[in-house]
Amino acid sequence: MAITGKTKILGVIGNPISHTASPLMQNAMLSHLGLSYIYIPILVEPKQLNHFLTAIRATNFVGVNVTIPFKEQVLPFLDELDETARRIGAVNTIVNRNGYLKGYNTDGAGFIMALDRDLQMTVSHKRVCLIGAGGAAHAIAFSLLSEGVSFLGIFNRTHTRAKALVDQLSIYFGRTLCQVQASPDFLDYDIIINTTPVGMASDEIPIPNLDWVRPTHLLCDIVYKPLKTKFLALAEKKGAKICNGIGMLVGQGVLSFELFTGQKADYYFMKKILEDL
Ligand code: NAP
Repeated sequence: MAITGKTKILGVIGNPISHTASPLMQNAMLSHLGLSYIYIPILVEPKQLNHFLTAIRATNFVGVNVTIPFKEQVLPFLDELDETARRIGAVNTIVNRNGYLKGYNTDGAGFIMALDRDLQMTVSHKRVCLIGAGGAAHAIAFSLLSEGVSFLGIFNRTHTRAKALVDQLSIYFGRTLCQVQASPDFLDYDIIINTTPVGMASDEIPIPNLDWVRPTHLLCDIVYKPLKTKFLALAEKKGAKICNGIGMLVGQGVLSFELFTGQKADYYFMKKILEDL
């Protein structure tokens, strides 16, 4: 797509930013639909974040995605938060409408979309265990409970962080549906999701063993490099269904694309772009 005087600007802000795959999949989708936008990676100095967000109000930036370390830091500089982003306390998508900035969070809904598109599966009435209680776990946990899981267990290396997440969730969903699990019986769950970075840089798994895995289980990892972590490879060997982190990355991108452009994005088209990398 040629850049002209009418081209609108989108991007992703973060620090570092050189690893991001979002420009590839977003530009491919924009170009496929013949939309006159460009999506660029933007390295923002943490101390200048407020200046960047002030500046985009005055430009033809239609919006930006937000990645590490800014997902919480952008909140005070926005005019409005949608309900999901407000509950999670983090934003991964900012839309600029004539200088008015509204923040959204599409990470959790992106995870749900991946299960639907790749496995034709819903989480409704399922027992789900989250491993980890960081930023991604927050977004996924809110979506899982909104989608009607029957129970959500949270297991994290640092107990206080798991408890803080459960306390935050209980404001909206009550105390019985969601609890900290200090030593979960994983056999008792339908879906187990690794939201820690364990398995990304090393051949490790985030829990002591996977002896309990049965073919009825679904194991998900939100790490997408490598595509098949040891956690997923071992689970697959035991006959379980598996789902890697690419789907969530694509799902959040599809939903951001739709907020930015008002046009439907094609999940499978965007996923293929990333899988071909
Ligand atoms: P974060 O906020 O830093 O949280 C990391 C979580 O992992 C914390 O609960 C932390 O436990 C736990 N953890 C870290 N190292 C661990 C270890 N060695 N053993 C056990 N637990 C450990 O990070 P995040 O933003 O949630 O991101 C987590 C991972 O998800 C990253 O790999 C990121 O790339 C990936 N991610 C993927 C997508 C996607 O679209 N697929 C989206 C967002 C994030 P403590 O509380 O004990 O420190």
